[in-house]
Amino acid sequence: MAIRADIELDAGAKTFATGLLIELIAALRRIRPGDLMAVIGSDRTVGTELEAWCRFTRNSLVEVTVEEARYRWVIRCGEVQAEADGEAQTEAQRSLGSRLWLYTNFDCNLRCDYCCVRSSPKAPRRPLGADRVQRIAREATALRVGEIFVTGGEPFLLGDIGDILTACAAAAPTTVLTNGMLFVRRRLEILRSLPRDRVTLQISLDSPTPERHDHHRGAGTWAKAWKGIERAQAEGFRVRLAATVATDAEAAEFRQFLDSRKITEQDRVIRRIALRGFATQGVALARVDLVPEITITADGVYWHPVGAEDSDLLVTRDIFPLADAFAAARRAWERERAHAHRLATIFNCA
Ligand code: SF4
Repeated sequence: MAIRADIELDAGAKTFATGLLIELIAALRRIRPGDLMAVIGSDRTVGTELEAWCRFTRNSLVEVTVEEARYRWVIRCGEVQAEADGEAQTEAQRSLGSRLWLYTNFDCNLRCDYCCVRSSPKAPRRPLGADRVQRIAREATALRVGEIFVTGGEPFLLGDIGDILTACAAAAPTTVLTNGMLFVRRRLEILRSLPRDRVTLQISLDSPTPERHDHHRGAGTWAKAWKGIERAQAEGFRVRLAATVATDAEAAEFRQFLDSRKITEQDRVIRRIALRGFATQGVALARVDLVPEITITADGVYWHPVGAEDSDLLVTRDIFPLADAFAAARRAWERERAHAHRLATIFNCA
């Protein structure tokens, strides 16, 4: 589904050389930072011009679609604002490859309306598999990966999630992202078998009370997630609470809730909904906005976990050798940075 834009600009057959630039500037004056503008046109070469223009003007080209020879380029006006809690700065300081993300399956027991990778009970399982994860873990050790993040869909749907997490934890401290709703019977036994000193659980909870969480994630899910949080804590695991929110007010409300529960800064994550996957509103993100965090799925290596099935964030289809995949991500990152540096030089006035 194409991203909905705040304004649509029909460029017809125009290019930058034949009047499009003037229309773009006029349109930008009518929208606010963060708003989205769709440019629709029939000349494919406009895409290259728009991409370059976006880089110069610090806007972002966030989506390109084509239907019946009509192109639709969606531009986000202005840069993404850094998170108030300094998370964005922390990310910028992290070295590429220090964090490694693994998408283990993509299917999920829930269908959240903002899921950035379209996971759901109907999503076909795309398993990374214990054998591949074991090889990734071995090679990650040699590459000095400092932290591994394991996400699903819902990883605890997998019968071999115990083997997967044990392999990861042997290579580096590991965080598993889960909705926390499946810790019963055999899955509870799997949880109990994991090393507490190497495995952290990051459990999603979007609001202090059920209404908003259940609205996005399904009726009754807040109560089940809360039970999962308590169970994991009772089993002696470190639990990090992760909220996905739509506004600053929601973030502030959740922060207050965490303060009242004495949850430390290290054990909380609050992030905005990203306009990817199922989401119909949220922050539109382009590759250039995201500090890369190497992300491996059954389909290849991606730039960042927030778009781990989107072609604009694909780095390479080849996972192995892992060193080559890391090198490809590093080259892509260097290209982005070199571009930013070139712009700085071009605009140097003396
Ligand atoms: S956001 Fe998480 S819990 Fe919700 S559908 Fe996606 S993977 Fe499942």
